[in-house]
Amino acid sequence: MTLADQNQDKTNRLKSTRLGGKMTADYWDNIFTAKERGKHVVWYNGAAMNPLFQAAGLEWCHGEAFAARLAAQHLEEPAQAAGAEYGYIGELCSYARTHLGCAVLTQQTISERQTGVVGVVDQQELAAKLPAPDFFVNGYAGCSTGQQWDAMTYRVFDRKLPIFNVSLPMLWGNKPDAGYMRGEEWEEVSTYAEGQLRELVSFLEHQTGRPFDWDLLSESMSYIKRASELRLEAMQLCTLAPTPATYWDWVASIAPINFLPGNQALVDYFAGVKAEIQQRIVDGISGVANERYRVYFDGIMNWNKLGFLTRKFAEYDVAVVAGRYTHESFWQEPQLIDIDNPLRGMAQHYLLCPLNHGLRNLQELLLRRLDEYSIDGIAFHSTRTCRAMTNPQSMLAKSAERERGVKSFFFEGDVADASFYNDELFDSRLEAMLEAIDVQRMKTLA
Ligand code: SF4
Repeated sequence: MTLADQNQDKTNRLKSTRLGGKMTADYWDNIFTAKERGKHVVWYNGAAMNPLFQAAGLEWCHGEAFAARLAAQHLEEPAQAAGAEYGYIGELCSYARTHLGCAVLTQQTISERQTGVVGVVDQQELAAKLPAPDFFVNGYAGCSTGQQWDAMTYRVFDRKLPIFNVSLPMLWGNKPDAGYMRGEEWEEVSTYAEGQLRELVSFLEHQTGRPFDWDLLSESMSYIKRASELRLEAMQLCTLAPTPATYWDWVASIAPINFLPGNQALVDYFAGVKAEIQQRIVDGISGVANERYRVYFDGIMNWNKLGFLTRKFAEYDVAVVAGRYTHESFWQEPQLIDIDNPLRGMAQHYLLCPLNHGLRNLQELLLRRLDEYSIDGIAFHSTRTCRAMTNPQSMLAKSAERERGVKSFFFEGDVADASFYNDELFDSRLEAMLEAIDVQRMKTLA
């Protein structure tokens, strides 16, 4: 790569995703004032249970989302320092560590308010601005840290607030008839998870003292279903080469689909994203100048390095076109949602978290994406403190090479802790993979 290449920004991000950023910022600003508005607040992590909270008239705060937001704004340090002081070590999931640190700061803020002590916590720190929860809901699939995270937060708040744990079993996929969304295991586990959601609805009714609004749930899910369909149609347009939009644009759209309220604004947002991509195809505009390689991204997003990695891959003429985090999550199977009776489809989506599959399902999904997007290589983000995501990665790399001849490389980083990333290692490993792809292409031509 020449110096000129290094200095030139070859990315061409979608303009329409800026609206999603604004909607998300407004959402958080609204959350920060929840208590002044007399609202009940639920803290939750894991699955996108927000439509249930919306129908119950609650305000909701998603732990990973807030940790990711702090990391993307490079504001995670005060929360992580508070977490470390409380005793959470650096090898603990950095989402959990950041959010637990927020809990410590929020709790300190409450005690200061009660005791009249001021100045211990800087009120301007974003990390301390979360409204204290009235109760917790945990719905984590495929990760033991996720399941323990709220139990720890519960302790930070002196074990005084109620907590509900939704149990989401692993999709092992090892029975003879098992596969992605098929087989006896899938049906059995779906029924079990649906039952868990019914229990959760009773819990919400108890906490709010109001009957659950099933009509509101159907209405909110109708918007989410439509938004998801538009999102998938737009993603499908990116199977074209060169791609009109990249994985990074889909990362920018995670917050809206993952936790913003189900309403017309959400549908309009994804309609806008799709329209911009369609227009790009008409105008011949691509997401990365001079696309020479099409890469799949496996691993949870490295939020501290979002813009940096976007430019970095493009510098090498790499279009990152799809990924496990973006494409195998977030209401990605909208046909499962029955608007009139949405609980089962919701439960099934919670089970379809990309951390919640045995190897066979993951291999099936990966090979499907490699074919669909004509992938040349895979970037495995070896997400240091997220064992749930990294566990199967070397076996997935082997499957991709064996079944499709697709090369890959690994780089270390983390969801919300910049210290695990090493730029020299990233460059040398990416370059090695691109060279291997070039050699393979020359052999094919010979
Ligand atoms: S370890 Fe990974 S899957 Fe588990 S809570 Fe953290 S980021 Fe989520």
